[in-house]
Amino acid sequence: MLPAAPAHAFSLPGSGQGKSVIILGAGLAGMTTAYELTKLGYRCTVLEARERTGGRCWSIRKGSTHTETVNPTQTAQLDEGLYFNAGPSRIPHHHQLTLQYCRELGVPIEIYNNVNEGAYHFSEGQGALSNKKIRIREVHNDMRGYVTEMLAKAIDQHKLDAALTTEDVTKIIEYLRAEGGLDADKLYKASARRGYVEAPGAGDKPGKIADPHTLADLLQSGLLSPDFYNVAEYTYELQMTMFQAKGGMDNIARALEKKLPGMIRTGAVVSSIQNLENTVRVKYTLKGAPQEIEAEACICTLPLPILSNLDHNFSSDVSRAIDFVPYIQTGKIGLQFKRRFWEEDEQIFGGITHTNNDLTQIFYPSNDYLGKKGVLIGYYNFNEKAKKVGTLSLKEREQLALEKGSLIHPQYKTEFEHSFSVSWHLTPYSLGGWALYSGDTRQTLYKAFIKPDKRVYFAGEHTTYLNAWMAGAFESARKAVADVHARFTEQRLQYPASTKEGG
Ligand SMILES: Cc1cc2nc3c(=O)[nH]c(=O)nc-3n(C[C@H](O)[C@H](O)[C@H](O)COP(=O)(O)OP(=O)(O)OC[C@H]3O[C@@H](n4cnc5c(N)ncnc54)[C@H](O)[C@@H]3O)c2cc1C
Repeated sequence: MLPAAPAHAFSLPGSGQGKSVIILGAGLAGMTTAYELTKLGYRCTVLEARERTGGRCWSIRKGSTHTETVNPTQTAQLDEGLYFNAGPSRIPHHHQLTLQYCRELGVPIEIYNNVNEGAYHFSEGQGALSNKKIRIREVHNDMRGYVTEMLAKAIDQHKLDAALTTEDVTKIIEYLRAEGGLDADKLYKASARRGYVEAPGAGDKPGKIADPHTLADLLQSGLLSPDFYNVAEYTYELQMTMFQAKGGMDNIARALEKKLPGMIRTGAVVSSIQNLENTVRVKYTLKGAPQEIEAEACICTLPLPILSNLDHNFSSDVSRAIDFVPYIQTGKIGLQFKRRFWEEDEQIFGGITHTNNDLTQIFYPSNDYLGKKGVLIGYYNFNEKAKKVGTLSLKEREQLALEKGSLIHPQYKTEFEHSFSVSWHLTPYSLGGWALYSGDTRQTLYKAFIKPDKRVYFAGEHTTYLNAWMAGAFESARKAVADVHARFTEQRLQYPASTKEGG
């Protein structure tokens, strides 16, 4: 267990005095809402369409089943004890609420290694470095070298517009030499930063460093294209340190479910939400049989592509926002291998290989290092690539992952055992990865979700600036609870607004 997270348990004054609240969806937002409202004395009923809780927070283990809108049902053949996260896999160190709930619910966490200079860039194309796996550290250090060399030379010849004192120039050049690994003449030559072709050892083995790739080769091979931008270390949400729930991210959902005994109806598919004069009426089917329930308030966490197909009497602003906020298309495939060859043969422990082909990324697991078997995420793709791969049959998805993956890891051919793929935009009760807002839709459509529509309150990652993050589910749950509680206790509760743009 890692040290305690610095956020706090939620605590509001006053009591809900047994008032009834229906919560739609038993994902993280819905279950957190029920958990917090119950602590305040409300009576909660959670309606969940799936036979399991957790929604997008889902880990695949032996026996997990999945049926998409196309393709037959899959049943995971993974060995006992192996898993992969089909949805969330990493927690940023500053998502304090996610970490707080892990602590409060007793879910152990461990380090998730998101940045690995030892993983690869693989560019399919024409250049000299194309169709070869290149260690990320080689590309990063060569480019740091070339760019700093150019800048150091330019500054020295006073070719920049900004006026710099001689002392400034000297300091900047020293910095650039350190940053890029330049020699005394401000030239970039290979250094140990980019790794060895012969590792150093004892006796007469100093190690051998290869010449750097040429700038022209790096450029012509597409390794400087957006597919390979060096953003992970810089993107706020992807900076190390990152965490994961030990044993599978959906252990967070399982722990929440345990706190809600008798409150969640699974297999309850909501079909209609109506604001009436003093109540909200929700129609649903339970294992196929029509049902109806009324309560004094409703918190709706259903994803927008689902809500868009339901019967409701929301205001025109809410209806428009539901219908016009798009969701990302995204998919992952888990590949079980007999042997952790990426660790044994290639010394890759966690991190991500990037490609410009349909795989987009290969994720290496950050758990059970040097164990016997392991599961890689064979692709994690978005938008057009995810759409294209989603249209393939399950077998074809597997073939694509194996064929393209073997270009990087030929060991795939002999070590592969099982696959399991999830296309989130084809997954019933999700129909997308997460909400995508533009600058414009933040100013217009988004606003419809941050206030109630009569007695219906909205929560879920789509009602936050933390799209694509579990933190969005947790933050929105606390906001909805505070708003509902304020209504019934007539207190003006202030919930601090998030300010972060999504991940
Ligand atoms: C591929 C992928 C990768 C991700 N990676 C990360 C990550 O690394 N880190 C991170 O923090 N977050 C990540 N996320 C985001 C995170 O998973 C979500 O933000 C979060 O789980 C959303 O929770 P929610 O409760 O808002 O929605 P959901 O989990 O979608 O919950 C909504 C619930 O409503 C139910 N429902 C739908 N229709 C009906 C109906 N008609 N009747 C009744 N119930 C219904 C659904 O079954 C579901 O349980 C990722 C998500 C995806 C898809």
